[in-house]
Amino acid sequence: DAPILKKPDWIRVKAPTSEGYRETARIMRENRLVTVCEEAGCPNVGECWSQGHATMMIMGEICTRGCTFCNVATGRPETPGALDVFEPGRVAHAVEKLGLAHVVVTSVDRDDVKDGGADHFAHTIRAIRHRAPETTIEILTPDFLHAEPGSLEKVVEARPDVFNHNLETVPGLYPEVRPGARYFHSLRLLQRVKELDPAMFTKSGIMVGLGEDRQAVHQVMDDMRAADIDFLTIGQYLQPTPKHHAVARYVTPEEFASYEKAAYGKGFGMVSATPLTRSSYHAGDDFARLRSA
Ligand code: SF4
Ligand code: SF4
Repeated sequence: DAPILKKPDWIRVKAPTSEGYRETARIMRENRLVTVCEEAGCPNVGECWSQGHATMMIMGEICTRGCTFCNVATGRPETPGALDVFEPGRVAHAVEKLGLAHVVVTSVDRDDVKDGGADHFAHTIRAIRHRAPETTIEILTPDFLHAEPGSLEKVVEARPDVFNHNLETVPGLYPEVRPGARYFHSLRLLQRVKELDPAMFTKSGIMVGLGEDRQAVHQVMDDMRAADIDFLTIGQYLQPTPKHHAVARYVTPEEFASYEKAAYGKGFGMVSATPLTRSSYHAGDDFARLRSA
C-alpha cells in the first residue's frame, strides 16, 4: 500500500458543535432524510450545518455504482427498481423548515430504475417550488447513462435553477476513479441541458490531488467551456477511508488560486477553487452574488 500522506495545515476543519448544527441535524432526522454531508464525511459539515445548509441525497443510501473516491455504500438497493414516493414531499418540508434561500439536492446513482430517477428529481423540484417558492434549487445529478430516452428532458422540464453534474476527475483517471462512467457522456449531458434550456445555469466540478497533472485540468476546463458549462468547482480530494483511492498529493492554496484565475480567464461565470471547495460548498452565496451582479 502507498503511505498515507499527512494532511497539510490548510486542511483544517472545526468540530461540529453549534446550536445551528444540532437544529439542522434534527430537521434531517425528523424528515428521515439522508445527506451527502454525512454520507461523504464532508469536512465542511460544521460550518454548513450551523447555517442550515445541508445537501440532501435522494433515492436511498445505496448506490449502484462504485466510484473509488466515494464513501457512499455500493450495492443492490433495498427496493430495486422502485423509489420512495413520499421522499419529494419530505425534502420540500425540510427545505421549508430550514428556510433556505438556495438548496442543493443530489442523489445516489440508480441504474436499476428505468429513468435513472429522472421523474423522482422532477417531483422533488416541483415539491420544493410548491412549499418554498422563493428558494432557488440546484440539483446535482447522476449521469443517467443507462436511463431510457427522454429521462434528462423530464428533469430539465421541471426547471431547476442550476443543473450540476460533476465530471469528478480528468478523463485519464476515469478507469480507476470513476469506473462505470464515461467522461464524454457526462460532458455531453451538461451540453444537452444547455441546449434544452439555454436560460438554465449549468455547473460541474472536479477533485484534484488524485494523480492528475495541471495540463489535464486545463483541458477539462476547456472541454467544459466548449460544452457551455457556466460554473466550476475544484476541491482537494480527501480519502474517506484507507480502502478508498489514495491521495496522490495535496494541491497548495496557491495552485488553487491559479486554477481559479485561469478558469475565469476561460469564461466561467462563477468559480470556486480552494482546498475545501465541494460541489455544494457556499453554492447559495455564490449564486445569490451572481444574480445580484
Ligand atoms: Fe454538505 Fe456541501 Fe456543506 Fe459539505 S460542502 S457539508 S456536502 S453542503
Ligand atoms: Fe458515489 Fe455518486 Fe459514484 Fe455513487 S455515483 S459511488 S454516489 S460518486
